Amino acid sequence: MPQKKYTHLFFDLDNTIWDFNSNSFDALYVALDKLKLLDKIGSFDTFFKIYNEVNDNLWDLYRRGLMTKKVLSVQRFEETFQKNGTPLNMDGEIVNATYLTEMPLQTKLVNGARKALDYLHGRYDVAIITNGFREVQYDKILKSELSKYFRKIFVSEEIGAQKPRKEIFEYAIKSMNAPKNSSLMIGDSWDIDIIGAMNFGIDQIYYNPQIEQKEWLGCFFSSMNRNIGDILAGTPLVFDKNQLVTDKKSVKTAIISDLHQLIDIF
Ligand SMILES: [Mg+2]
Repeated sequence: MPQKKYTHLFFDLDNTIWDFNSNSFDALYVALDKLKLLDKIGSFDTFFKIYNEVNDNLWDLYRRGLMTKKVLSVQRFEETFQKNGTPLNMDGEIVNATYLTEMPLQTKLVNGARKALDYLHGRYDVAIITNGFREVQYDKILKSELSKYFRKIFVSEEIGAQKPRKEIFEYAIKSMNAPKNSSLMIGDSWDIDIIGAMNFGIDQIYYNPQIEQKEWLGCFFSSMNRNIGDILAGTPLVFDKNQLVTDKKSVKTAIISDLHQLIDIF
């Protein structure tokens, strides 16, 4: 019997476990309703689309240290209202605060997340590594009844480094007393979770529900290729489970399109 390859699993939170896309939609809707802004913005769907684009761009700047959290928090709403053609008649900070209050009250999880966590719980040492704001991430986990699954939660703001930087992975691994070669990162962002863990030197599982069924989904392959487009276009040379234990040299990647696949892998 080969020894079990992995002992420590590190999960991203937003859109890997906690359904950020759908929860943020609901939270923003409730927040705008409370502030009596809903009837001023026209289509909420259109507004939300603009918000996501604005927010993603600003988050990119924030992640790279080019924008403060305070500016991001205000500007994401003021800019969205502006671009929506319905300029905001109050301070963006009020919208932000109301939205952040509603956010952790939303508890939808990604399909298969609880089932996978129930399975992994007790079998592996599991933690979260997240880039979100500290004032909401803990509450999201608490209110969604996820606390019992994770021994530790690593929030970038508290560590002073965001994924994909190596420092946050380094910090998390050390705090968990996790050997690098038996640790694994699971996340939905190729550039942030997967490339980050790859560059740090631990194996990874990329979760993307949009990927169509391929026979090698859920199998580990050698991740020398940092371009997800190239990987999806080809057929990677996959490892079998026994090889995973013996081949300690290269960092490995697997791709899944459904969190239930984690139960087969582990
Ligand atoms: Mg994510």
